[in-house]
Amino acid sequence: MTHKGQCFCGAVKLEISGGAEAMGYCHCNSCLSWSAAPVNAFSLFKPEAVTVTVGAEHLTTFQKTPFSQRQYCAKCGGHLMTRHPTIGLIDVYAATIPTHQFSPGVHINYAETVLPMRDGFPKLKDFPAEFGGSGEAIPE
Ligand SMILES: [Zn+2]
Ligand SMILES: [Zn+2]
Repeated sequence: MTHKGQCFCGAVKLEISGGAEAMGYCHCNSCLSWSAAPVNAFSLFKPEAVTVTVGAEHLTTFQKTPFSQRQYCAKCGGHLMTRHPTIGLIDVYAATIPTHQFSPGVHINYAETVLPMRDGFPKLKDFPAEFGGSGEAIPE
């Protein structure tokens, strides 16, 4: 199963093959600041599942911390994905790939939330233990 995505102006196009390793919502300050949104809907894929098919020359990377290489289109500024090299996964934003079914299973960095979401899914204080976090859940 292949899903297509593109930036805001369409200069950069990408394709996803296969399903996501994990999906959910990130409430961290970095995601909020970079996306200018109260929450980031993430879908994590293995790097080999993600192919930039058009406009790779416009794909620009901003790296503030070793954990996240944030990628956007230099023409329109539209955000596409964040590479997480230390865990070997790429977050292709759910909004970037509209035909890929978004099935969130977890909230992360919920201690920093500005938009409480009472949906019954686990609310992790920071990151899952396997990604170097405490893995600690906090109440809705
Ligand atoms: Zn663009
Ligand atoms: Zn985040």
